[in-house]
Amino acid sequence: MTTVAPARPDPFALTEEERAVRDTARGFAQRELVPTVAQRDEDERYDRALFDRMGELGLTAIPYPEQYGGAGMSYFAWVLAIEEIAAADMGMAVSLSVHVLSQLCIHLAGTEEQKARLLPPMAAGTHLGAFALSEPGAGSDAAALSLRADPTDDGYALTGTKVWITNAGDAERFIVFATVDRKRGRDGITAFAVARDTPGFTVGTHERKMGIRDSSSAELIFDGARVSSADRLGTEGEGLRIALESLASGRISIASACTGLARAALEHAASYAAQRTQFGKPIAEQQMVAAILADAVVAVEASRLLTWRAARLRDAGAPARAIAAASSAAKMFASDAAMRVATDAVQVYGGAGYSRDNPVERFMRDAKGAQIYEGTNQVQRLIIAQHLIEEIRR
Ligand SMILES: Cc1cc2nc3c(=O)[nH]c(=O)nc-3n(C[C@H](O)[C@H](O)[C@H](O)COP(=O)(O)OP(=O)(O)OC[C@H]3O[C@@H](n4cnc5c(N)ncnc54)[C@H](O)[C@@H]3O)c2cc1C
Repeated sequence: MTTVAPARPDPFALTEEERAVRDTARGFAQRELVPTVAQRDEDERYDRALFDRMGELGLTAIPYPEQYGGAGMSYFAWVLAIEEIAAADMGMAVSLSVHVLSQLCIHLAGTEEQKARLLPPMAAGTHLGAFALSEPGAGSDAAALSLRADPTDDGYALTGTKVWITNAGDAERFIVFATVDRKRGRDGITAFAVARDTPGFTVGTHERKMGIRDSSSAELIFDGARVSSADRLGTEGEGLRIALESLASGRISIASACTGLARAALEHAASYAAQRTQFGKPIAEQQMVAAILADAVVAVEASRLLTWRAARLRDAGAPARAIAAASSAAKMFASDAAMRVATDAVQVYGGAGYSRDNPVERFMRDAKGAQIYEGTNQVQRLIIAQHLIEEIRR
């Protein structure tokens, strides 16, 4: 089913390289993710072997320099790939997206030594990455985090808890945000690249999620975990900037994943509507069903355009605040659109849509999370509005 893939002839003039990376991701997703995603969702099982396979295919560090094991391609090429993964399996797309996000923190703030040491195994997919910002008392208000990083002779002792950390079950490298002094507020927040086998660090309770159940999300517990100064990213107090700048890019990736999910939901709904007959004709020819499908086509196209715009701005080196506003707009719109299109797909299927024997109910459950993670859509609206006001006052 290719009804809503970008039209041919291609008005966006994708390069041969961009088409190749998209086709690699699409081929892998359709061959190796689609056949097993329903069972992995049912079992609530993250399949590390599938992630390893993405590493072998060169999909785990597309937008990063070859010098550190990446594919040396644009962020635009990366979003082409993640749309394809998500169209097959949103849980695996979120896992991969967070892995790419965690590498970005190292690219943004790491020293040459840290980049050379930490990035190649992550780029190859042999080290899975996680990004640990959220805490029980600090979600939308990330600057209120309370995980402590107390100075020691040779580094820091981390004490506190993180929650909802994607990839926690399998990750080898965790980017952890902690405070060296709560009184300093956001200026005390500091980033660390923490290894899984660090003494005093354990993975706690796993979340029992509504959707993306084939990805792992868990609590992290730090009980005086000793982290060397060599694994601090950037300076003390630079952590929140690193987190927010990384998330501004990560949201473009989530927006593209939502575009893929919405596209898959639409493709299923359209196929079903074309063959399901009621009142003597296919339901696709009933005007109210046709209107649902038409709205979904426009939602998918608009999501993709906002996402591609944000990716192109990033590749063009636009100012960080402009990229942040564009990525928030893309993430907010695309995740709301994915939720609506997936919910409508269930409606088009009627009773069959409510059955776990059909994939559309999974799309609906999977879509919901994207309105929440990497900043809720209320927070995205705050970012967009703040950017607007700043522009007006300039
Ligand atoms: C599937 C999943 C994966 C996740 N993965 C990660 C991960 O890998 N790493 C990580 O660090 N975190 C992760 N998270 C956590 C996620 O980032 C937080 O859940 C999110 O930031 C919201 O925080 P919260 O849950 O504490 O909600 P709260 O901040 O308590 O918000 C509750 C509600 O209040 C609204 N709200 C809060 N403040 C405002 C405001 N100022 N204006 C308007 N509305 C407001 C919110 O929009 C929301 O609707 C994940 C979450 C999920 C569900």
